[in-house]
Amino acid sequence: MLTREFKPWHVPVFLVKYAYLTATRRPVLVHFEVTMRCNAHCSFCDYWKTDPSAKASELVSFADAARFFNPMVITFTGGEPTLRRDLEDIVSAVNKAVRLKYMTLITHGGMLSPERGRSLWKAGINQFNISLDYLDERHDMARGIPGLSAKIMRTVPRMREMGITGVRFNTVIKRDNLDQLLPIVNRARELGAGVNFSCYSDAKNGSTEGVIERGQRQQLEETIRELLAFKRKTRGVITNSDYYLEQIPRYVRGEITEPCQSGMRTIHVDPMGRVKRCPDFPTDFHWTAFKKYEPINCNACYYACRGEAQAPLRFSRVQDIMASPKATATENYLPGAVGGAAWGRGL
Ligand code: SF4
Ligand code: SF4
Repeated sequence: MLTREFKPWHVPVFLVKYAYLTATRRPVLVHFEVTMRCNAHCSFCDYWKTDPSAKASELVSFADAARFFNPMVITFTGGEPTLRRDLEDIVSAVNKAVRLKYMTLITHGGMLSPERGRSLWKAGINQFNISLDYLDERHDMARGIPGLSAKIMRTVPRMREMGITGVRFNTVIKRDNLDQLLPIVNRARELGAGVNFSCYSDAKNGSTEGVIERGQRQQLEETIRELLAFKRKTRGVITNSDYYLEQIPRYVRGEITEPCQSGMRTIHVDPMGRVKRCPDFPTDFHWTAFKKYEPINCNACYYACRGEAQAPLRFSRVQDIMASPKATATENYLPGAVGGAAWGRGL
């Protein structure tokens, strides 16, 4: 039920912390964007265009910010966080700064060797979220990294052999990968990993190439039904709530109108320590001058971090929580923050 380093008694303790953070309207999940630099070349994201000189202004440590927010879930993201050679030091310092937390890393996986995975695991990472939108070469082409999907498929089993139990694929549902969603789930299951889906939007840089077209809506709805049916049979591999998956066709049909609560449960801290409500909004203030966010009338996206924050705690979520897959992440236990780590800057 829990990854090895967590015990069943952690669940109620996490829930108490969750209740406290919610009651005091403090972020449950903090994303630390440790760099904006990236060596992939995704067409739907401009981070790879970041000037290398930006490295000079990146914070050496996020520990003070972590201590200040004292969140329940901490995600290290980017850009591509593994570009930072001092990432282990950053993770380790945050690990020491916050007592009760669950730490994840979002990466494209191109530089994630099993050995790097082990050193980050030792530094305190509980879960590796590896972007994977296709099982075949389409993934390599979309990311501009030759051999990427094959490398990921070689790396994950070796990480699992090393005892790294927290591995999850971050899969963006988009125009040309509807045929890949169930195969990715099945592959994850074989590997003892999980899958967290998020829905594509053009909010990052205006690229509409992944936006699901009107003519695909029926196929999308059928695919979502299949994913939900998979979840009913096998809980724990797909880590989204049923609610979030159910809402995706509504979003694609333009029917979601409720205000976005980004910034209320999840925030992003950029490499210089400035806070923004979501990955695609500008920064508002430095973390030392943090002010609580209010809901906003924006429907530019339906990323998992947005949709999961609004997911009600249904019985199916309790079933998710009680599921016992080989590699289920503790994050499954955290209502409202569940999908948050799925969609950082490093998609
Ligand atoms: S809908 Fe929310 S999370 Fe999405 S871009 Fe708008 S403010 Fe950000
Ligand atoms: S989506 Fe992720 S991997 Fe692609 S360029 Fe942006 S940060 Fe890099």
